[in-house]
Amino acid sequence: MKFIDVATIKLFAGKGGDGAVAFHRELYVPKGGPSGGDGGNGGSIIFVGDEGINTLLDLKYQREIKAADGKNGIIKNMHGKNASNKYIRVPLGTLIYNNQTNEIIIDITNNQQKHVLVKGGQGGRGNARFANAKNKAPTIFEAGDLGETVEIRCELKVLADVGLVGLPNAGKSTLLAKISKAKPQIADYPFTTLTPHLGVVRDQNQYIFVVADLPGLIAGAAAGKGLGHDFLRNIERCKLIAHVLDMSGNYGTEDVYQNYLSVKTELKNYNYKLELRSEIIVANKMDIEMATENLVKFKSQMPAVKIIEVSGLMQQNLSLLVNEIGTILTKIKDNKALWQLDEPLVEAGDYKVYTYNNPLETEVEVVNLGNGVLKVSGDAVYKAYHKTPITTYDNLLLFNKKLQDLKVFEILRAKGAKAGDTVRIFDYELKWDG
Ligand code: GDP
Ligand code: MG
Repeated sequence: MKFIDVATIKLFAGKGGDGAVAFHRELYVPKGGPSGGDGGNGGSIIFVGDEGINTLLDLKYQREIKAADGKNGIIKNMHGKNASNKYIRVPLGTLIYNNQTNEIIIDITNNQQKHVLVKGGQGGRGNARFANAKNKAPTIFEAGDLGETVEIRCELKVLADVGLVGLPNAGKSTLLAKISKAKPQIADYPFTTLTPHLGVVRDQNQYIFVVADLPGLIAGAAAGKGLGHDFLRNIERCKLIAHVLDMSGNYGTEDVYQNYLSVKTELKNYNYKLELRSEIIVANKMDIEMATENLVKFKSQMPAVKIIEVSGLMQQNLSLLVNEIGTILTKIKDNKALWQLDEPLVEAGDYKVYTYNNPLETEVEVVNLGNGVLKVSGDAVYKAYHKTPITTYDNLLLFNKKLQDLKVFEILRAKGAKAGDTVRIFDYELKWDG
């Protein structure tokens, strides 16, 4: 049995800050040197494995996550501030895919495991870095790099925290439906498979947990009767077992204590460790008259145990039940000895980690559009265009130099550019002097 929870989000890392152009201005120092500082780096988005989280619920309601941009460089050689990184906590077992290519980016399997999903852009250098013997007062500066971006899909095989156990007709399915319905914001939690048997519940402390209604437990299940083994395998993965007992006395259920023992025996026969698993006892169908009498008797047979009295059908005491379960889970979730299996919950995969800067098809592309207009594009040209804004004289020279190195001028001539033509480079319109 597999429950898959899915969340799709776009991630945007921050842009690097631009380098500054500035010069020393001091009293009695007529011509100071260049002093424009570097831009700060943009923030990255980093996913962190967190064993305290068990669903993707918090991610589901976000369309996109953005990290802040780095600050621009400042005068007096001051470095612009780096933006802080964003840390997004996800449950262990979260598989993160590139949603466009369907490739696996990373499998988060360990607590505190960190993975940079999109890296912030590097800050650009300020003009102080470009001074040399030939040009003592350069106006060269760099723009900050853009941050990486990717659309990801997170998938999580959901493991139930709480398993509802009990004989057929005890009211498990009703209970699950009602405790999910009692929380309208999560009632339509869209699991992709097997929806009816799994519900996500949030208690009054905003602690979120997953409840499974695992049908199929009958006497002899441990020997493989009915759906017995499937059921028991799932129960093994629950941190807490909730015994649901039919208190009504209908259909031969009068001997509640005996029913409880028979369920306990099945669990223990399957895996002796299940006998020690934390449990909560739910006395159900308390709306029926006979239930009170049966409960008195049951309590005398189990004097030391806390019993939560509810009616699933009539929705009585359900928030008490939810909060009680939440409280117990909060206590035991960090004490793995109480619930962990001998085998690991999620096997680590040896998936390859790859980067996802979409490469453009061509480095340099020149198209003659006719009527004296030519268009220059391509990946390498874009980098030069982005990195070197032509807002200062030196940067204009540098940009020309970069285009020359990319052989853009040669290609323009070959494509028939004539003096006076217009050359479009992204949002620049430049005049071609030949
Ligand atoms: P499951 O087999 O344990 O999943 O039990 P179901 O949830 O399918 O319930 C079995 C029967 O008991 C159904 O007819 C329910 O309507 C009824 N039932 C469940 N909970 C209650 C309850 O709290 N009070 C009463 N009176 N009937 C209930
Ligand atoms: Mg059922």
